[in-house]
Amino acid sequence: MRYYSTNLKSPEVSLKEAVLRGLAPDNGLYMPKYISQLPVEFFKKLPDLSLPEIGLEVTKLLFEDEIDDNTLREINQDALNIEIPLISLNDRLKVLELFHGPTCAFKDVGGRFIARLMAHLTRGENKEINVLTATSGDTGSAVASGFYNVEGINVFILYPKGKVSHIQEQQLTTYGGNITAIEIDGTFDDCQKIVKTAFLDKELNEKLTLTSANSINLARFLPQSFYYFSALGKLGNDPREVVMAVPSGNFGNLTAGIIAKKMGLPIKRFIAATNVNDVVPEYLDEGAFNPRPSIKTIANAMDVGNPSNFARMLDLFENSHEEMSAEIEGYRLNDEGIKSYMKEIYANFNYVADPHGAVGYGALKELLKENETGIFFETAHPAKFKDVVEDALKIDLEIPERLKVFLNKEKNAHNLSTNFNEFKSFLLD
Ligand SMILES: *Cc1c(COP(=O)(O)O)cnc(C)c1O
Repeated sequence: MRYYSTNLKSPEVSLKEAVLRGLAPDNGLYMPKYISQLPVEFFKKLPDLSLPEIGLEVTKLLFEDEIDDNTLREINQDALNIEIPLISLNDRLKVLELFHGPTCAFKDVGGRFIARLMAHLTRGENKEINVLTATSGDTGSAVASGFYNVEGINVFILYPKGKVSHIQEQQLTTYGGNITAIEIDGTFDDCQKIVKTAFLDKELNEKLTLTSANSINLARFLPQSFYYFSALGKLGNDPREVVMAVPSGNFGNLTAGIIAKKMGLPIKRFIAATNVNDVVPEYLDEGAFNPRPSIKTIANAMDVGNPSNFARMLDLFENSHEEMSAEIEGYRLNDEGIKSYMKEIYANFNYVADPHGAVGYGALKELLKENETGIFFETAHPAKFKDVVEDALKIDLEIPERLKVFLNKEKNAHNLSTNFNEFKSFLLD
């Protein structure tokens, strides 16, 4: 398989090059040259397949002979040891719980996969790889957890000061070892901009090997397609058509769903569910894409004003607004709306949703049609947003053990401004 850049101005590359570069030299995002359909037999046995088995079949198709089957099987088995239950609220409303991984967010799937793939691709080389990652909260911890103690790889995590929850910050700043946390006095978009500038900086790239583990990296976002398959496998024979409501920020998750559909998964349509950072819903409604600075909300992992993966979405629909809006409907909620749906799902179903999941629930409540079954993603464990959830629902939330361990550790982060040169000198030191 070869991988091309969405900007079409850089040469096609191998899997190794796409993964180690992260961003293409022309500033585009890498995509597999072909996305073919999985065979009918795959869909027949889908209900019986485990997540690693699904991952193996999907990556065989998307990587072809770039990696041998045995290695691919090992990577999938090791990375995807995560439960992903599909919970029925009623016969037409379901939740896919994506928070059962080590850091309690869906990003564990991609974070664990990319760490193992990158370790495999660079095994035996004597130069160190530096992974730069901007995070609005959850990416950083999933990447840190995935890469912690992986030999030959250093991870730098940039997060916006004061804009992640306490638990999230503890998860970012307490690893130590090969993980370095950097607190940027700015927004998530500033962090993302610094990282993107670094990938294009000539001097930095001559002196250091840089790559990304954000969803701009192929190996982070593609594995997110696996659980769409898993969800439909678990749904079994449902006579209605399936709609997926995806709480979205940088749109890696939703883009992975579109790819799953391209591979033959029978999803009728998607809902791009956002908070007030709604540039994609606005594009779907009006046909104009106007990135702008992000606004802080209680669903902070979706506070993204210029979603990177929109470039991949455009590419998948061949720049046609008409085609994209025929398959994806936009939906947005402000903080008040998010809180009211958190209360509603708790009152109606005794289900505690985090603020991101609540946006997906709201989307289905308002947009699901008679003949459809809706699945929304619960993208993080509610305890990651303890204060917001407890305040909205007037309950005490139990913090899972795997999060508790971070709370007693000491924060260790470097403070930097939004000035790129400051970051550059820091890296070169
Ligand atoms: C990252 C994240 C999102 C947004 O996912 P994208 O792939 O960036 O659209 C939604 N919810 C939570 C909890 C997240 O951590």
